[in-house]
Amino acid sequence: MAEAAPLRIVIVGGGTAGWMAAAALSKLLPARDYTLTLIESDEIGTVGVGEATLPHIKVFNDTLGIDEAQFMRETQASLKVGIEFVGWDRPGDRYVHPFGTFGEPWAGIDFQHHWARAKAAGCDVGELHDYSFAIAACRNNAFELPNEDPKSIRSTYAYAYHFDAGLYAAFLRRWSIARGVERIEGKVVDVARDASSGHVASVTLESGAVIEGDLFIDCSGFRSLLVGQTMDTAWCDWSHWLPCDRAFAVPSLRTEPLLPFTRATAQEAGWTWRIGLQHRTGNGHVFCSSFTDEDRARDVLLGALDAAPLGEPRMLRFQAGRRAAAWAGNCVAIGLASGFLEPLESTSIFLIQAAVMDLINLMPTRRSGIDPRLAAEFNRLFEVHYDRSRDFIVLHYLANRREGALWDHVRNMELPDGLAHKIALFEASAAAPDYRYGLFSRDSWLAVLVGQGILPNAHSLLAEAIPLAELEAQLADLKYRIDVNAADMTRHGDFIRSYCPAPALEP
Ligand code: FAD
Repeated sequence: MAEAAPLRIVIVGGGTAGWMAAAALSKLLPARDYTLTLIESDEIGTVGVGEATLPHIKVFNDTLGIDEAQFMRETQASLKVGIEFVGWDRPGDRYVHPFGTFGEPWAGIDFQHHWARAKAAGCDVGELHDYSFAIAACRNNAFELPNEDPKSIRSTYAYAYHFDAGLYAAFLRRWSIARGVERIEGKVVDVARDASSGHVASVTLESGAVIEGDLFIDCSGFRSLLVGQTMDTAWCDWSHWLPCDRAFAVPSLRTEPLLPFTRATAQEAGWTWRIGLQHRTGNGHVFCSSFTDEDRARDVLLGALDAAPLGEPRMLRFQAGRRAAAWAGNCVAIGLASGFLEPLESTSIFLIQAAVMDLINLMPTRRSGIDPRLAAEFNRLFEVHYDRSRDFIVLHYLANRREGALWDHVRNMELPDGLAHKIALFEASAAAPDYRYGLFSRDSWLAVLVGQGILPNAHSLLAEAIPLAELEAQLADLKYRIDVNAADMTRHGDFIRSYCPAPALEP
């Protein structure tokens, strides 16, 4: 029997999404069954921001077989064990969402029940956030690779990276081309569809070249050239829950110390980020244009810098939301072409990774063709990832005691279905969502619920199995082990200098 011709995959767009897709597909799909072509336009360029990630990115890089130290050198990366939120309840307060667990599950019941019980009994056990090793590392500005012994307190965290998104895309581009991805530079000016199926048959470049394909991956950014413009897939607008619609971004001179966490500081009509990389600090101000003007937003950003800006702030416009479906016909949108959530919890690159891996799991073959059942499952997972991420981001806004029109608005808005239930359940029972798949883990929910001042009024009676005095002693011992071990860790800057020092770059 004759061999089936390879399935022709065409990726439109070469930002972070396009090159992550190309890299993973070139590594994980059998080369004899697929061809991979990526089209990108130097003239259009990329969105060029996206410096903060979640720990899942390490799994992505490891799956590809990327050498960590080399990748960190080439992207000027630093390490990250959490996100610090400053002023999200009231100006001046702060808490960390750690990439790690709170405490240990004693007597078969999650740690927060024991903490809540001890608190309710009037014991002097401190705050929930005192029982996270990752938070202690943030407080000490320290980093070491997690210990592989699961019994060690030093094994109870994960880590992500801050990196230069442009350098990461360039790194993956070199990596993918070396593995057979054909890169075509050019601007797509026309899209041809098959008259009977409605599927995209080819795209035409400004040069006149026609690129045919069987499966098109739309990584064209906010333009959403194929899934949005061509297939006309509906847009779910979430701006009533997440009203911020603009950001100014500007790098500044690198300052010491190099922090192992992203900082997100609430501002009068939005929030600012600060991200330390090896060669510079990334800064931005996400704001809501209904509640402030652009001049004022620019001034807020410049006022929040801790060093001289390296250029003029650049403004980006967006709307929170997602496509009703990311897979339409034979087109699959990944990255900004599929939706946008403000970068408060560094979710966008995770959403790219999840979509790429889901697509590989459900990848059509030449023989199966584009099976609508594969598309339906992909779209179900796409909704799960986006909607959960959205709820988690909204959670940061709603429980605030800040002044200002934005903060009044978000405090009084109607919540997405399900989020109100999660909050009420936590208040009534200390139970937090515990997803085994995708974002976010129980500990992440606990960090933000408690960090925002939402506290449980009750706890599981299973926690009562431990006599109170014994529980207090266990908590004290745990806190001691966290503090002593965190105090003994290497400074984050020293770790970077010995593990993966990057070459000096022009800022
Ligand atoms: P883009 O970078 O816009 O790339 C689109 C590609 O499509 C480009 O190569 C372009 O040339 C090409 N293209 C478009 N039209 C055509 C055409 N007609 N012909 C040929 N090529 C075309 N994410 C995080 O995970 N962490 C963060 O900290 C973070 N911060 C952010 C801050 C801001 C203010 C914004 C707006 C986003 C942030 N993101 C963050 C999101 C992140 O930037 C994106 O998810 C990521 O860069 C992926 O972008 P993309 O590849 O989808 O689109």
